[in-house]
Amino acid sequence: MRALCSRLPLVYHAKYSFEPWPAAHRFRMSKFVDLHDHLLGRGIATKEQLHAPIDDPPDEWFTAVHDADYYFGFTDGTLPAPAMRRIGFEWSAQLVERTRLECAGTVLAARLALEHGLACNLGGGTHHAHRDFGSGFTILNDLAVSARYVQNTGLAARVLIVDLDVHQGDGTASIFASDPTVYTLSFHCGKNFPFRKSRSDLDIDLPPGTSDDAYLARLADVLPRVLQVAEPDLVLYDAGVDVAAVDTLGYLDLSDDGIYQRDEYVLRTCRAAGLPVATVIGGGYCTDLDELASRHAIVFRAAQAVWERG
Ligand SMILES: [Zn+2]
Repeated sequence: MRALCSRLPLVYHAKYSFEPWPAAHRFRMSKFVDLHDHLLGRGIATKEQLHAPIDDPPDEWFTAVHDADYYFGFTDGTLPAPAMRRIGFEWSAQLVERTRLECAGTVLAARLALEHGLACNLGGGTHHAHRDFGSGFTILNDLAVSARYVQNTGLAARVLIVDLDVHQGDGTASIFASDPTVYTLSFHCGKNFPFRKSRSDLDIDLPPGTSDDAYLARLADVLPRVLQVAEPDLVLYDAGVDVAAVDTLGYLDLSDDGIYQRDEYVLRTCRAAGLPVATVIGGGYCTDLDELASRHAIVFRAAQAVWERG
């Protein structure tokens, strides 16, 4: 398979980011194009590595996971105002388009990972999206949509979702709560949003201030056991960088080097077990956009290193 694709596959669509966007919003809508420009500008990636998701993903991908009234309410712009407030974004047709494209990007990354072993989406990680409501800047759950897509198309039977964003993957956990074919693992800080947690297959609730050594030791203790229990055909990895000490929302204390070690460990361990992995960027909150792009680039640097080692 490697001969068919000599470069690490990356997934990106120019419409992941759009303007205008409120300058003071905590969620930086430009971060996707900023990440793209950072990866290409610094030589971390080349444009030959980029794959674009389809422009018009079918509604069935989404209604396989989400309640139809909620999904079409969002796409039609008829969700009640409180539902949009809970999401934290103002509705627009551009928001609908980029949200659907971002999910299609994770679907494509999952397909490419199954073909080539590893693939990375320059977006995704919308893990607070539940079956029939969105929250915490997430609307449609790309991880859940992708897991269902690979199952429904017969590409994979069992999926493991490794969610290392600082916030619990409550939407993903609730969607798959009674589904033994999708295993959900969430490392998070209990003091962070959401304040009412869902139950993942395994939740690792870390205390505020947890730093590199303690975090990495816990991960090295947990991940190999989870791989054995979950027996996945595919791993979806949410590499949220809001675990950074300097993140404006997260309460954990990882350094950028610690995040690199985390990402490299997850990818190396899964690949050593012969498992395909698709990565998504997850959360990251920082007023300095260059700094945020370079932090989201960490998982791409780690993936490139693991890819080159084969
Ligand atoms: Zn987060």
